Amino acid sequence: MKILVINCGSSSLKYQLIDMEGEKVLAKGLCERIGIAGSKMKHQVPEQEDYIVETDMPDHSVAVKLVFDALTGEHGVVKSVDEITAIGHRVLHGGNKFTESIVVNEEVKKVIRECFDLGPLHNPANLMGIEACEKVVPGKKNVAVFDTTFGMTLPEKAYFYAIPKEYYDKYAIRRYGFHGTSHAYVSQETIRFGGLDPEKAKVIVCHLGNGASISASIGGKAVDTSMGLTPLEGLIMGTRSGDVDGAVIQFIANHENKTVDEVLNILNKKSGVLGMTGISSDFRDIEIAAENGDHMAEVALDAFRYRVAKYIGAYVAAMNGVDAIAFTAGVGENDKVTRRLVTEQYLSYLGAKIDPERNDVRGKQRLISTDDSKVKIFLIPTNEELAIARDTKRLTE
Ligand code: AMP
Repeated sequence: MKILVINCGSSSLKYQLIDMEGEKVLAKGLCERIGIAGSKMKHQVPEQEDYIVETDMPDHSVAVKLVFDALTGEHGVVKSVDEITAIGHRVLHGGNKFTESIVVNEEVKKVIRECFDLGPLHNPANLMGIEACEKVVPGKKNVAVFDTTFGMTLPEKAYFYAIPKEYYDKYAIRRYGFHGTSHAYVSQETIRFGGLDPEKAKVIVCHLGNGASISASIGGKAVDTSMGLTPLEGLIMGTRSGDVDGAVIQFIANHENKTVDEVLNILNKKSGVLGMTGISSDFRDIEIAAENGDHMAEVALDAFRYRVAKYIGAYVAAMNGVDAIAFTAGVGENDKVTRRLVTEQYLSYLGAKIDPERNDVRGKQRLISTDDSKVKIFLIPTNEELAIARDTKRLTE
């Protein structure tokens, strides 16, 4: 069975075709600048030269058509679209309606549309991707895999904000959490790889990338997660502030003569380690600056790791214990210093110990704690596309 996974942004479309026997990526690629002059598609097949198409892509349907042409044509990996069983779509926000991935029908599309308010940048693009596939390959099953469904198992004490209840009743304002496919995948992989109890294992997943979030789960079911109504809450990120006192918004708006939307844009796009340092949102640049003695780069890295550790502490309390901590995503998979410092500076009270040799690794599934560590610590590379493909397979076979 072959599954196509699609992740649409407002002007981009990422895809992977996965053969579910062996879970092997047959081809992947990216369409950029959809709807903007200079659109381009890069199609990659393992062990072949990249195939680049530079042609106008006025909308997502044209991009989807090009993807199917690339998959079936001269540089293709399948003879016809009939070989592709179904299409799995990453969808940011499913509101509080969906507790699971679901085969798309008119009702599902309606709910995705109703959630435009909650995911204004992503949901419209995600829906465009689905509708483009319906148009280009009619009859093919589309599955929506929401970033928010992992958070649907949160108990009320974790998802309610302490604001007037009417806002939950009217607008479903609550903690949803994001990076859900990553947290679900990594927590399950941690249980499997670590040989932990599939029903009872208490796992904390640190998804540390340009966007960053932490989850606590028991037996793979989320009990808490750091992102909230939107991905703004929680950890310090590349460009997002994470947790701030809401009054900061009012203060900046009043003093800088800005609207709430403008301030939110600053908190989402110009804050985090970028805002603190004025240097970059890329953690590698911040590390180089810190090595060269830039004080705010040092502070930003310290603050980033401190916030990660504070959330781990909170989640140990939330679960009354922890069996394993897993690091994943760009920083989590590549930055051994962050993994070591978070553990050594803040988690020794738990009896957690990093093994420096095991920790000297990038992007590979591995136990990185010592044999006598009271908490197992793992590096587990995330694979959101595979998680989406697995759900799509399950729902369509
Ligand atoms: P992601 O959002 O998961 O793609 O992660 C992107 C982030 O990972 C970027 O900010 C990168 O700087 C960061 N990253 C990648 N490699 C390293 C590394 N060796 N050390 C620190 N950060 C890294």
